Amino acid sequence: MKIYMSGKLVDEKDAVVSVFDHGLLYGDGVFEGIRAYNGRVFLLDEHIDRLYDSAKAIALGIPMSKEEMVQAVVDTCKANDIKDGYIRLVVTRGVGTLGLNPYLCEKAEVIIIASGIQLYPQELYDNGMRVMTVGTIRNHPEAINPRIKSLNYLNNIMAKIEAINGGCMECLMLNHKGEVAEASGDNVFVVKNGILSTPPVTCGALEGLTRNKVIEIARKVGYEVREIPLGRYDLYVADEVFLTGTAAEIISVVDVDKRVIGDGKPGKVVGDLAARYAACANAEGTPIE
Ligand code: PMP
Repeated sequence: MKIYMSGKLVDEKDAVVSVFDHGLLYGDGVFEGIRAYNGRVFLLDEHIDRLYDSAKAIALGIPMSKEEMVQAVVDTCKANDIKDGYIRLVVTRGVGTLGLNPYLCEKAEVIIIASGIQLYPQELYDNGMRVMTVGTIRNHPEAINPRIKSLNYLNNIMAKIEAINGGCMECLMLNHKGEVAEASGDNVFVVKNGILSTPPVTCGALEGLTRNKVIEIARKVGYEVREIPLGRYDLYVADEVFLTGTAAEIISVVDVDKRVIGDGKPGKVVGDLAARYAACANAEGTPIE
């Protein structure tokens, strides 16, 4: 595998970071997870925009333009013969000292890995997954805003540990007010009486690009979509619940905290939206060749 690192495509074995990189020492950096379908990188410009926004929010200067970054992603896919795959784009603060001061880091490090991912077993896509709400609350927006896709995922990992310990593959996190925020690595939607609802990003969610695409598709075909604060009650009484994310794509939730959702099987609305999303993903995007 060829990895993009420090402006070059290098062999996987040579793609190593320094132990003084603040990405490693402090989780100081930002990232994106991107998918390619059918020879095209899906939502590439949107991912690059979000990456630069995340970087700006943490005062991290990325040492290349957005156009150069788009090209580097495409080149990395090409070098690895990726037609359908998963791309991880990482920007760390770079090599610094053992102190926190980010201004002592010489230059941000840009890493691009073009590979694949299977987040959940197929069985969960066919039959839906069980999730639980967890005690670990989503980061307070004035501590680390969940809109920043930072390399510091301990908040999400703490929540994921609770879920796995509780026998679930995924969790739902609440914010400091007890409102539903998102899953550990996905956004959440509920469907009730044909209306879709998802928490606004101000409730503590990443502005997911899959979420945004699902909202766009749903509205285009006539569904009403609301971005409103949701409580656990809204999850429990929903007709359908589903998660969205680049890696997870769209997956049904059939049980939340041991409350069976709808009839306990993936619902019609999620099925309809997942099919429309897949059609979009296979037809749109930045060509790799
Ligand atoms: N929330 C979190 C915390 C995430 O890490 C992700 C991405 N895996 C998402 C939501 C979904 O975002 P996207 O649809 O842009 O992948």
